[in-house]
Amino acid sequence: MDFIAKNVAELAPSMTLSITSQAKALKKQGVDVLSFGAGEPDFNTPNFIVQAAIKALNDGQTRYTESAGLLELREAIAAKFLIDNGLQYEPSQISVNCGAKHSCYNAILAVVNPGEEVIIPAPYWTSYPEMVKLAGGVPVVVETKAENGWKMTPEEFENSISPMTKMVIINSPGNPTGSVYTKEELEKIAEIAVGEGIVILSDEIYEKLVYGENKHVSIASLGRDVYDQTITINGFSKAYAMTGWRLGYTAAPKKIAEAIDNLQSHTTSNPTTFAQYGAIAALQGDQQIVADMRDEFDVRRQYMLSRLSGIKNVKVVEPQGAFYFLVNVEPIGIKSVNFCEKLLSKQKVAAVPGVAFGAEYTVRFSYATGLDVINAGMDRFEEFCHQH
Ligand code: PMP
Ligand code: GLU
Repeated sequence: MDFIAKNVAELAPSMTLSITSQAKALKKQGVDVLSFGAGEPDFNTPNFIVQAAIKALNDGQTRYTESAGLLELREAIAAKFLIDNGLQYEPSQISVNCGAKHSCYNAILAVVNPGEEVIIPAPYWTSYPEMVKLAGGVPVVVETKAENGWKMTPEEFENSISPMTKMVIINSPGNPTGSVYTKEELEKIAEIAVGEGIVILSDEIYEKLVYGENKHVSIASLGRDVYDQTITINGFSKAYAMTGWRLGYTAAPKKIAEAIDNLQSHTTSNPTTFAQYGAIAALQGDQQIVADMRDEFDVRRQYMLSRLSGIKNVKVVEPQGAFYFLVNVEPIGIKSVNFCEKLLSKQKVAAVPGVAFGAEYTVRFSYATGLDVINAGMDRFEEFCHQH
């Protein structure tokens, strides 16, 4: 007897998470693994945030909050949206969820009916298509081109629309490509989405990690009509090194926000109460810590770019944001899962196969790790590429 529900049985486990745990397990056995797997800052959560959560626990903040999260936190998020993104949201339009992954899933479940299509530009974050399928929706993957900076062009977007299209997912800065859409590019996407009545899920979790001249723009800030059909998602994991706290949030037009709140009230209820107090401190504290972490990521990005550019048989597009390199290894001619298995077994370097992001013959390296690891890891990767 098969007890597993069909849609869950068909899920592939998250490769981003499984590679990271494989690398951790090997390290525990004493193997000298250099891990580029985790999409997780290697910094500790800043101390003032930790202290705020400890204080909350000591003060007895151990009960349920409103299902959408503490009003004080939603007010702090609303203030952040206004200052950082020029977006006006009422606290009632905001829902705080158990990580931005949960925010994405809530948003998709709240909007997508079975059989409806969701446009996902590839390379994409590994969980989007699986979430859409869990909701009974149909992922429509749009291949983007390296020469366009891995960004979906307006033509590619238009050509992928059908009468069943309900949503498009925009992730800028993007995982795994590091691409950042410009204001002009977002304006064109917004215009098409508005014209066709397509909901935009804008995943802005890497907002604070943009480099060089690039600027992060929230697509919902580009006009009233696009605001009215956009769900903006952000969170604490990447900007504040708070991955384990499991805190993300959605901001949406009233009706969608109510639907998300309803859904959450029957599934998880509020995210962990004392963690929410840490999040208030994160938003209200000195934001220099965010800039300092970003600067450190940028140093690593530039170093890694110089190393990767010197390796025979691989190609990279300079990432403009987030903390990943998507490396094209096509000339080596080994499929990405096999490539990463060999890289791990021979060179003890952990990276994520591009197939997890809908990009065969690529490999993702996260540079959310120290320069010493990057240096040694690039030596080993270079040796591997030269042997193949
Ligand atoms: N969106 C993207 C693009 C991500 O890379 C991640 C990584 N975890 C998430 C959402 C989810 O973040 P969180 O840890 O807050 O669930
Ligand atoms: N988003 C990160 C990554 O892509 C963390 C793992 C996950 O949540 O998928 O590696």
